[in-house]
Amino acid sequence: MRKKSNTHLKPEWIEPIYSSVAEKSKDCVLMDCTVLYNSPRALASSHIKVARDNGFNFAPIVIADGERGREEMMIKVDGKIFDEVRVGGALEDYDSLLVVSHMTGHLGAGYGGALKNVGMGLGNKAGKMEMHKAFRLKIRRRECIACEKCVEDCPVDAIKIKSSRIPGISESANIDQDRCVGCGGCVGTCPEGAIKIPWTAAPRKELQRRIAEYAKGALKDKNALFINFLLNITKKCDCVNEKQRPMTDDIGVLISNDPVAVDQASLDLIGKRTFQLRELIDPEIQIKHGEKIGLGERKYELTEL
Ligand code: SF4
Ligand code: SF4
Repeated sequence: MRKKSNTHLKPEWIEPIYSSVAEKSKDCVLMDCTVLYNSPRALASSHIKVARDNGFNFAPIVIADGERGREEMMIKVDGKIFDEVRVGGALEDYDSLLVVSHMTGHLGAGYGGALKNVGMGLGNKAGKMEMHKAFRLKIRRRECIACEKCVEDCPVDAIKIKSSRIPGISESANIDQDRCVGCGGCVGTCPEGAIKIPWTAAPRKELQRRIAEYAKGALKDKNALFINFLLNITKKCDCVNEKQRPMTDDIGVLISNDPVAVDQASLDLIGKRTFQLRELIDPEIQIKHGEKIGLGERKYELTEL
């Protein structure tokens, strides 16, 4: 059994923030989207259960892309890569976002902070597929038990059960890549985790740029404030679902109305090299690209409160 993350943001840190906002806005909710990979958080109902089980019991929770991650709102962006991004449909109902992020390293994107929390976090499953350029899902036939759950779930009948030539496996699921529209739903539906995402289809630099453009879309026409927690700063993000040791001392909490500035300041305080997990990942790419597309500025001034 895998060990649970022990360094994620604690509910007792978030509750006072939520309460102070909820005093002024009765429609205030905690919001997230489903994840793309195979996890209880791949479905809205079980995602909410995970949050409740971890102590987030003080507020309504909205999973913006719906039960299977297919509800979406298309937003035009003037990006260098995307003209349009696909975010969770319920985002349309809210005009303000208070983005609370845990600063951590990240194996794909270099680091996770405000930009990644908004960009990847609010993309629906199809949006997450686009950010990862994960357009060709693969089924590991040895793990497939031909249960047909993915067949029933696919909205475009792109999956069929076919006989297999692999010794010991009579039949398995098969994806028709020409029919697949990249909704990503089947990945979380498979009880065996047999449907694999080509995580490295987008090189890391490009993944970071794509995340920044999604963040721009999700924030379009919203009032937004960003809070980065520089506490329990770990090498990998909280999603790895394993116990981790902090890489450095706790630093504090940063607040800004500029997502680029708050991430740049966070990275500078932690030290860019701390997150340079592999030589090839420059964690500043998403910040630089965010500035380039007009999401904010890398220049900042720190005021201690
Ligand atoms: S990702 Fe493709 S194969 Fe999977 S459910 Fe969506 S359309 Fe069907
Ligand atoms: S849901 Fe998974 S195990 Fe079931 S048929 Fe599809 S790929 Fe195979």
